[in-house]
Amino acid sequence: TKVFADRIGRIEVSATMAITAAALKLKSEGVDLADFGAGEPHFATPRHIKDAAIEAIEKNFTRYTNVAGIPEVRKAIVDRHACDFGSNYAPDECVFTTGGKLALFNVIQVLVDHGDEVILPVPYWVSFKDIIQYAGGKVVYVESDERENFRVTAKMIEAAITPRTKAIVLNSPSNPSGAVVSPEDLEAIVRLAHKNNIFVLLDECYVYLNFTGNIVSGGSFTDCKEHVVVLGSLSKTYAMTGWRAGYALGPKPIIAAMSKLQSQSTSNTASMVQRASIAAVSGSQECVAEFRADYIKLRDQILAGFQTIPGLTCTVPQGAFYVYPNVKNFIGKGGIKSASDLAAKLLDEAHVVVVPGEAFGTTEHIRLSYAVSGDVVDEGVRRMREYFAKLG
Ligand code: PLP
Repeated sequence: TKVFADRIGRIEVSATMAITAAALKLKSEGVDLADFGAGEPHFATPRHIKDAAIEAIEKNFTRYTNVAGIPEVRKAIVDRHACDFGSNYAPDECVFTTGGKLALFNVIQVLVDHGDEVILPVPYWVSFKDIIQYAGGKVVYVESDERENFRVTAKMIEAAITPRTKAIVLNSPSNPSGAVVSPEDLEAIVRLAHKNNIFVLLDECYVYLNFTGNIVSGGSFTDCKEHVVVLGSLSKTYAMTGWRAGYALGPKPIIAAMSKLQSQSTSNTASMVQRASIAAVSGSQECVAEFRADYIKLRDQILAGFQTIPGLTCTVPQGAFYVYPNVKNFIGKGGIKSASDLAAKLLDEAHVVVVPGEAFGTTEHIRLSYAVSGDVVDEGVRRMREYFAKLG
């Protein structure tokens, strides 16, 4: 007899797991790694956010709350979003979720049926693909051009729309490439979706780590809001990855359906995390500006380092905290057969942790997270330069 349901067979464990496990093993053996693997800020959560959680616990704010989040946190989130992006969501057009990933998971479960097509630009964050497949949806990949900085345009998206298209998933700034969808392209894509009666699911988890200074949200185009769902996260913006704080903003019926799903699964996000999140989004945003300035410095530092490695080329990321260099010049040398192979060898032989591009739908790249100290950047680049030089 069959043990597992079909749906669990449609997904894989995160492609980063193998390399993470190998890296952890080396670390436990005392090996000093230059670790560019983890997609999370190296900063501590700011003091005022931690204090709000501690105070909530001390005041016994430790019980069940409204499934979709207390009214105060939903209001704080929509107010922040309105202030920063000119959106006009009401608190009941917001659901607070256990991390941005759950917001994404729930919106896909709520919207996507078997056989529905979901358009996904490549390179993509790996969870998009698996979550769509888990729901039974068909992923329609749209290649972006590396020579155009992995730019996603309305024209590319339009060419992929069919009568079966249900939604378009966008992530700007992008994990893994750091590419940003321009305000003009984003507006055109949102209007295209509106016209075709399909949804734009916009993952804005790095929206505050956009380095271009020219920033809009999917929610900024208020006349199209019935076809937009914004997926947000406090993880990267406020260095809160472990807290599990995210949200979705969208049309009331979709938010209500997501809350219904949540009522039969996770229920509310931890009560003290909701209080901490109010402090994060309502308090001073100076920490966000400081983090962003630091990431820009680290990006420039790692790109300057790459310039000293012959054969390695890299697009200039406009946001997030990843670089996605092209390694095709090294594939075929020293017995390296693929980007995965290269990542494994970089770990074993150079003690540098990177994630192979296969995890993001491309075969010639590796991803490095530069949310690390400047010293780690320098040391990692030095090790890579030495390793690649040996390959000849
Ligand atoms: N979306 C993207 C593109 C991400 O890179 C991540 C985390 O790596 C998430 C969403 C999920 O973040 P969280 O669930 O921590 O809010």
